[in-house]
Amino acid sequence: MIVKGSVKIGIEWRFGADWPGQRCGAKTRKGTACQRPANKKNGRCRLHGGASTGPKTDAGRAMIANANTKHGKYTKDKILKRKEDAKISREFWARTKMIEIRLRAAGVID
Ligand SMILES: [Zn+2]
Repeated sequence: MIVKGSVKIGIEWRFGADWPGQRCGAKTRKGTACQRPANKKNGRCRLHGGASTGPKTDAGRAMIANANTKHGKYTKDKILKRKEDAKISREFWARTKMIEIRLRAAGVID
């Protein structure tokens, strides 16, 4: 067995039956209470703690968004801007076409 600091490496279960700490206590498939050591935050072990509920603060949300953003081409703002630009472009070309049709009808251009 290797000892690094306070951690013993090579033993399968370092919290034995006489371990005095808080246990998870979740109901197992066997029907008994889970004996794994509990996390400090939620009182359950790593197997019974449930999924993360995500960041709560604005700073936390910003941090996650920043970590998952590669180039920002597909953010809501950029997508909306592209749609507005495309709409302006369509309107411009439709008006240009109407002007061309009217000029042809009036005989100004051929
Ligand atoms: Zn557990």
